[in-house]
Amino acid sequence: MKKLLTPVAYINSIFDITPQMLKNKGIYGLILDIDNTLVATHIKKADEKAISFIRSLKENGIKAVIVSNGKKKRVEYFCQPLDIKFLYKAHKPLRGALNKAIEMMGLSNDKVAILGDQLFTDVLGGNLIGIHSILVKPIDLEEPFFIKLKRILEKPFLKNVEFRDNF
Ligand SMILES: [Mg+2]
Repeated sequence: MKKLLTPVAYINSIFDITPQMLKNKGIYGLILDIDNTLVATHIKKADEKAISFIRSLKENGIKAVIVSNGKKKRVEYFCQPLDIKFLYKAHKPLRGALNKAIEMMGLSNDKVAILGDQLFTDVLGGNLIGIHSILVKPIDLEEPFFIKLKRILEKPFLKNVEFRDNF
């Protein structure tokens, strides 16, 4: 179980990642979480930072699909300024939507990474299907009670862990 809950890398921000870093590791496709990964949960629409991040991926030949457990309305509205494919109500960590996203990108699993802020959804989901799982520190620590509880449960899994990759 511990292995399934260990990300290959743990980074401060998704915006620290460049297309070149990904290519250096043989990654050509990203599965992206929205809430607390690309923007704080209360931000409704993709902001300038998110827009330019997605644009630079595209310009440099990195494919990306947004896969969110959020509702249709949230995900659709967020993605409006972005030219990107998305899947909502994804039920991460279940593999259905994750496999679909990989299929949409037309890449093999070893060339895909998932980026997200939650261990029990993003990292676990990625590890279950054998893609690179990159955990991102949450943008906003003012989270709903339910998520705060999950953060407490995440802690022991992130203690004394050596991450396989560094970005
Ligand atoms: Mg999230």
